[in-house]
Amino acid sequence: MSIPAVPGVYRGVLFRSNLERQWARAFDGMLGEARGGPRWIYEPPPHRPDFELFDTDGKPWIIVEIKNDAFDIEHSPVHRFTSIAKKTGRSVFLLAGNCWPGQYSVFVFSADGARIINEGAWRECRGCGYVSIFGIGGKCRNCIGIEVDAFTDRIVEAFDAASKLRART
Ligand SMILES: [Zn+2]
Repeated sequence: MSIPAVPGVYRGVLFRSNLERQWARAFDGMLGEARGGPRWIYEPPPHRPDFELFDTDGKPWIIVEIKNDAFDIEHSPVHRFTSIAKKTGRSVFLLAGNCWPGQYSVFVFSADGARIINEGAWRECRGCGYVSIFGIGGKCRNCIGIEVDAFTDRIVEAFDAASKLRART
């Protein structure tokens, strides 16, 4: 018996947008799993950001909001993101654009305000495999001095798999 794929569903989760669904797939490819489960939760209570991400031990890590390429920080209400950062004490990373290397911008909201990460992107350390969001020329937080790379096999394959999740037409 074949089970038809349901548009908008990934890992049993129904996403509001295919872009969010693609990011969930990209997170799986880039970050792997923690304790047999994904390293993300979609719209976790109580504040319901788009994603909460976990570290490899399953501990709370960062909060992620997804916007499409129409996002314009100058003309968008960003109070919600700063508010979540204040309430949780954690950074909120906003990924705006397409789910593809070089086609999204990264903004970070902390309790004291918002800023853009210069050429921010998901990058991997070629020394230890640590994956996180870094600015251009960023150095791994585990391997002092090793520069991280946005185009490793793991990251490119993760985005490629995500891009294959198509919206209902
Ligand atoms: Zn490293």
